[in-house]
Amino acid sequence: PETITVQELANRMAARQGEVIKALMKMGVMATVTQSIDADTAELVVEEFGHRVRRVSEADVELGIEGVEDTTEDMQPRPPVVTIMGHVDHGKTSLLDALRTTDVAAGEAGGITQHIGAYQVTLESGAKITFLDTPGHEAFTAMRARGASITDVVVLVVAADDGVMPQTIEAIKHAKAANVPMIIAINKMDKPGAKPDRVRQDLLQHEIVVESMGGDVMDIEVSARQRMGLDKLEEGILLQAEILELQANPDRAAEGAVIESRLDRGRGSVASVLVQKGTLRKGDIVVAGAEWGRVRALVDDRGRQVEVAGPSMPVEILGLSGVPAAGAPFVVVENENRAREISEFRQRKLKEHQVAGQVAARGTLDQMLA
Ligand code: GDP
Ligand code: MG
Repeated sequence: PETITVQELANRMAARQGEVIKALMKMGVMATVTQSIDADTAELVVEEFGHRVRRVSEADVELGIEGVEDTTEDMQPRPPVVTIMGHVDHGKTSLLDALRTTDVAAGEAGGITQHIGAYQVTLESGAKITFLDTPGHEAFTAMRARGASITDVVVLVVAADDGVMPQTIEAIKHAKAANVPMIIAINKMDKPGAKPDRVRQDLLQHEIVVESMGGDVMDIEVSARQRMGLDKLEEGILLQAEILELQANPDRAAEGAVIESRLDRGRGSVASVLVQKGTLRKGDIVVAGAEWGRVRALVDDRGRQVEVAGPSMPVEILGLSGVPAAGAPFVVVENENRAREISEFRQRKLKEHQVAGQVAARGTLDQMLA
């Protein structure tokens, strides 16, 4: 049965224990701080305090990681997170490289490009966009397998001289299944053989009607090689982000997903994560997948140490006990005991669930990405 102690419930709502006890008394429930109440009663209390309840996965409910949703007034706009997909050789890597150079913040504070699985560009307007650039986009694959998504927008690259190809169609299917809006980047427009209208025609057969044909899917002509149309593409992404009203509460314990991770000879466990909610701080105690640890350092996509990372920011975490799986969720918890408890629970679950070939057709998806 799902239960939660009065103390824990108060903690998670950042409410006084006395207030929670009073609210319970009003509902005819007499409880002390250490007593447990059932999930339905807890839900009533949470609503009484003006929060929205979200029941999470069985494992997380059991562990009591979360259950309280942010209120609307806590929410602030956050940058979009973008994944680039498309057929092999249509220019995904080239486009990612080209977009990276549009970061106006790159020059000023120094630092050298680091591949941490994602990077963030700051545009002249001050707006930010996060691009996933992990090879194979393991995180995208793993999250999709769990039914979650870390991507807000898919940019589908189609080479203007080659048109819609098998992996283009696969990518369309994946984006549709994940319910993620697409923007079509018609690439290689510098090539003499470029036939952008043929691309648009081809897309019709896959139920994608682009804007220039009267539909509502943005289509933008670019050349990754000549760095043409990149500003238009970024504008398009920001417009799509506006439509999606992407928001997160920065003033809470951080939550997010592991993008990739590795064991580094000098630095130990290095996990690249994407913060999705809240603000991650140096010194925080983090559980990532089945691993945990105190954040010893945070390193950004320019190799610079940072103190904090807010919503949609990719950052490396140093200090975890091991190497968490790509796509695994991470969450900041209140203390080390709690972290250990959750990590042990998950280690157990992992052993139970170790089945081969969990992510079918993963090879083809990996090829489509980067
Ligand atoms: P990916 O497999 O989708 O990551 O494709 P790449 O980025 O590796 O590009 C495949 C090839 O296309 C490379 O030789 C690139 O130099 C070339 N390419 C990529 N973008 C453009 C472009 O805009 N114009 C031209 N002419 N070539 C491009
Ligand atoms: Mg590539």
